[in-house]
Parts: sequence; C-alpha cells; structure tokens
Amino acid sequence: MTNVSSIIDGALKEGRNALLEYEANAVCASYGVPVAKVKLAVTSSEAVKNANEIGYPVVLKIVSPDILHKSDAGGVIVNVKSAYEVKEGFTKIVNNAKNYKADANVLGVLVQEMAPSSTEVIVGMTKDPTWGPALMFGLGGIFVEVLKDVSFRVAPITERDANEMVREIKAFKILEGIRGQPPADIDAIVDILLKISKLVMENPTIDEIDLNPVFVYEDGAKAVDTRILIKE
Ligand code: ADP
Ligand code: MG
Repeated sequence: MTNVSSIIDGALKEGRNALLEYEANAVCASYGVPVAKVKLAVTSSEAVKNANEIGYPVVLKIVSPDILHKSDAGGVIVNVKSAYEVKEGFTKIVNNAKNYKADANVLGVLVQEMAPSSTEVIVGMTKDPTWGPALMFGLGGIFVEVLKDVSFRVAPITERDANEMVREIKAFKILEGIRGQPPADIDAIVDILLKISKLVMENPTIDEIDLNPVFVYEDGAKAVDTRILIKE
C-alpha cells in the first residue's frame, strides 16, 4: 500500500503525530473501510465547487494540525444545503478556529458527504505497552464515554474475534434492533474491525486509531470521522 506509507511518512517528516482527517480517510479507504467522501478546500469558492461535486447536503470541517477535536473548536457544521451556506459556513468555521486557538495553522475546510444518521458505533485501536495493538469496539456517545461499554481484542484478530467483540458489549441488543428499529448490519462492523486490524498490523507507525463515529445501517456502514495518530 504505497499510498498509505507515503501519507504516513509525509506526515512524520513534517514532524506531525497525527494525520489530517482527509489523510486518515484515504488511509482507511485504501484498506477498504467504507468512509464518507471528502474533498479539501483552501478557499470558499473551492468549497462550493467541492460541494457541487459531492452533492448536497454536505458537512464542513476545519482542517488544522493544531485542532484534533473539531467540534470543541466550532469546527464542524452538518447539513449544509446550498452554495450560499457553504460560503457562509467556510468563513464561520475558519473564524471559530481562530477564536479557539489564535495561532492554529488552518489549512482549509474539508467538504464531506453528509451520511444519513443512524446508530453510531466506535472502532478504535490503542497500543498497550505489554500486548501491543488492541482493537476496541463500542456504541457511540454515552455508551463509550459514560458507561464504558466497550470490548477489546489484541490484534491481529480473526473473524470470530470480531464477531465476539460486537456481541459482547452490553448494548448489543440495540444493534439487533429494538422497538421496531431495523437490525444493524453486524457483518459490516465485523468487516471494518478486520480491516483496521490488517491496517495496524501492516503499519506499525500507526499509534492510535479512532473511527468516531461510524454510522451503521441496515445494509452497510460508513465512517464519518477518522482519526489516526502516528509515532516513529
Ligand atoms: P470531532 O472531531 O469533534 O469528533 P466529527 O467529525 O466526529 O468531529 O463530527 C462531529 C459530529 O458530527 C459527529 O459525531 C457526527 O454526529 C456528525 N457528523 C460528522 N461528519 C458527518 C457526516 N459526514 N455525515 C453526517 N454526520 C456527520
Ligand atoms: Mg468524531
């Protein structure tokens, strides 16, 4: 995967310890992880051009190596519906970023395909000093942050491991479909876990991964936020 190593090597050479979102998006896509389409815009008219290509509605996100948690910086606007709103949103996001961190190096705004909302899950990887890369799975929002309802497995994982990871969280019933909700595509989640396992095994400079959230549908799934940390 020359694409993946050149992205990671390029970032390391620049002295960065995190990939930009569009770089992480490309790395995940190279391994077959379903991701939302993205296009970087440096100017607001370029953002409009990108949005026309992707199709409305779109999501706008700040692109800065100094801002890892974009929402905290007012750096995400969802459901942007017209060229006018794209222009307005571009300016707003860049201003918000500057107000959040005056010396932030703002590289532009990412225009992203808006994915229909659905059950949100998180797929992650952290490195344990003893065990090495460990994959994590959980449901998004309070399930991970408050209830810590997550499962872990040391990589590389098998298909059976991935299936167990999904089924052993307490909130699994939600994925099976409750109160008339259709069941979520478990195989699509298993597939993402396996692909992330392969990605981290083949690229030891990857130090941490956070796909948060991944929207899971009745048929398929899509990662709308991809964060990858790297270490020489
Ligand atoms: P942060 O860096 O703050 O985690 P995210 O990229 O995760 O930023 O965006 C914040 C929230 O916006 C997400 O949790 C999700 O609910 C929503 N969101 C982000 N991107 C998309 C998208 N492409 N389609 C639909 N919703 C999105
Ligand atoms: Mg996120």
